[in-house]
Amino acid sequence: MMTRRIFRSIIAVAIAVLIAGLVLATGFLYEYFNQMQAARLHDELQLAAAGVEQGGVDYLLASEGCGARFTLVAANGGVLYDSRADVSEMDNHLGREEIVAAMQDGEGVSRRYSTTLTEQTFYEAVQLTNGAVLRISATQGTMLTLIWGMLPLILAIVLCSVIVARLLSKQIAGQNMEAERNRREFSANVSHELKTPLQAIIGSAELLENGLVKPEDTPRFIGNIKKEAVRLVGLINDIIRLSQLDEGEEMPREDVDMAELVREVADVLQTEAVTRGVNIKTECEACRMMGVQRYLYEIAYNLCDNAVRYNRPGGSVLLAVSRAADGVRLLVRDTGIGIPAEQQDRIFERFYRVDKSHSRETGGTGLGLSIVKHAVQYHGGDIQLKSEPGRGTEIVVRFPFGD
Ligand code: ADP
Repeated sequence: MMTRRIFRSIIAVAIAVLIAGLVLATGFLYEYFNQMQAARLHDELQLAAAGVEQGGVDYLLASEGCGARFTLVAANGGVLYDSRADVSEMDNHLGREEIVAAMQDGEGVSRRYSTTLTEQTFYEAVQLTNGAVLRISATQGTMLTLIWGMLPLILAIVLCSVIVARLLSKQIAGQNMEAERNRREFSANVSHELKTPLQAIIGSAELLENGLVKPEDTPRFIGNIKKEAVRLVGLINDIIRLSQLDEGEEMPREDVDMAELVREVADVLQTEAVTRGVNIKTECEACRMMGVQRYLYEIAYNLCDNAVRYNRPGGSVLLAVSRAADGVRLLVRDTGIGIPAEQQDRIFERFYRVDKSHSRETGGTGLGLSIVKHAVQYHGGDIQLKSEPGRGTEIVVRFPFGD
């Protein structure tokens, strides 16, 4: 259904473009060749007229068989000579438009179509000093013949368009289908992820409402409600960021000081790191790049946040930015729990978590790395990941300088 609709649209566009192209091209070319033909006839007629003025019909007889057709018409309209036809069979030419014009104004031109409309003849006539009129004529195919001649080519192009349109429409529909599947899967995941904290909030609130919580436990329950609400806000914020990136809308780029940005991220995450007993170290080389400040911040923040959250007490995080010949390098290295090799490709997928409860317990949404991946792609960069369970993880993001 979808394939057929796309196919029809592509074919309609292809044929419209073909027709427009043909009409324009043949129209222009045809006019151009007509003008060339008229100019050539004019020159030949001038030359022949000068020859006849001097040498009479003999001039025409001498050049018979080569070049255009010449007709010499007497002042009374009788045909004196014709290079292609038998004079005795030719009628009086006083009725011919170009002859009449030549007799009145000294010269005349006209163009006549054959009955089948597949040929047309150009005529140009000039009056000689003795009153007779010398006429030149040439016959050529009309626009119809031109198009008829191109018909095999046109059919070949139409056939090619049909084949290409069929292939393209299948491919586009197949893409669309994959995007649609991803969208549906994402919506289902989002609903599920939103439901979990909401159910926890409702559960705690109900227990409190019905007086089923001991007074000394009340602060813990209220604390839980707050924690789940904060998680909900974090999740909603991540979903909004991801959909903005999905929209693919161009954001204004600016000159970003990456060293300053990385130091700011380290500062913001300091409190969380201290709570977890993790030490954040920065190594910043002065370097700038053109990019979307907010996206670049998200990248550094999410990577550093993970490095802190999936660390161990007493562990450390190195956040470094440096200048390479072809762009900026952002390195985030931690001494944390690491990621098993078989899951290293999957962690960039939406809502994919190696250990769901650890992620939840540390306030993760499962969307951080998908935002990172998207935002890095947006800047034309790439991500390299090295990780060993129990030893730690190192992520290097390479950005081009941008223009
Ligand atoms: P989350 O919000 O769960 O942290 P992310 O998309 O940021 O979601 O990461 C996806 C998963 O990848 C995490 O749940 C975690 O299992 C794993 N992960 C990410 N960064 C690290 C890291 N530095 N060390 C170990 N595991 C990590």
